[in-house]
Amino acid sequence: MPRRAVIAGNWKMYGTVAETRALLRSLRARLTVDDPNREVVVAPPYTALGAAAEELRGSPIELGAQNVHWESRGAFTGEISAPMLVEAGCRWVIVGHSERRQLFGETDANVNRRARAALEAGLRPIVCVGETLAERQANRTLDVVRAQARAALLDLGGAGIQNLCIAYEPVWAIGTGRTATPGQAEEIHAEVRRIVAEAAGAQAAERLRILYGGSVKPDNIDSLMAEPDIDGALVGGASLDVESFARIVEFRT
Ligand code: PEP
Repeated sequence: MPRRAVIAGNWKMYGTVAETRALLRSLRARLTVDDPNREVVVAPPYTALGAAAEELRGSPIELGAQNVHWESRGAFTGEISAPMLVEAGCRWVIVGHSERRQLFGETDANVNRRARAALEAGLRPIVCVGETLAERQANRTLDVVRAQARAALLDLGGAGIQNLCIAYEPVWAIGTGRTATPGQAEEIHAEVRRIVAEAAGAQAAERLRILYGGSVKPDNIDSLMAEPDIDGALVGGASLDVESFARIVEFRT
């Protein structure tokens, strides 16, 4: 069975409530997601999730958040829990984004805890993995990605793995305008699928959607999506521009 593509927009710390409403209205007007083989997700900042859920009512575009804590409630100033995200209307959540790992000290262990909490609450995590430029230059890409993927998937079980996506996002390609070539990305995606097969069996690996992220734009999406193990994209900068994001959603292979 072909895997359903996922195109997810990570809006990062961009968008007041008013800006989010305006962007989603334009996106809904521009985008006709009538292809059952494509899922579209947007992940605005937390403060705009409620408004975004209202704007997306009746739309096939789904809502995601940019992170989640592993406890459902408690004294964790500045954090947000999975049940809170579900209540706000989210179906998806990004975990382990490299900006979280690099700027806010997130570790493989807590990325795994966040993914587990998301799954328990019925959210679909998009778990990010990827090497830095120094790691690529030192020929450590495969080791780094293998270790991150194994740690993220620990104890999730086959059922959990069915409900998540992995995003391969080379850190050197995020927000830099430098994209991995389709061949570079495919090599890592195929390896991630092998790791999932080890952890959860061949069938789960075959079903898993593996997204590529890192300067995805209208002019490179088609060649990336032509690769057999690239099942979608996690898009930062280009997801804030309606025309660019729409063209990415409308990729052609
Ligand atoms: C991201 O933030 O996940 C990302 C891939 O950003 P960009 O598309 O801007 O490189």
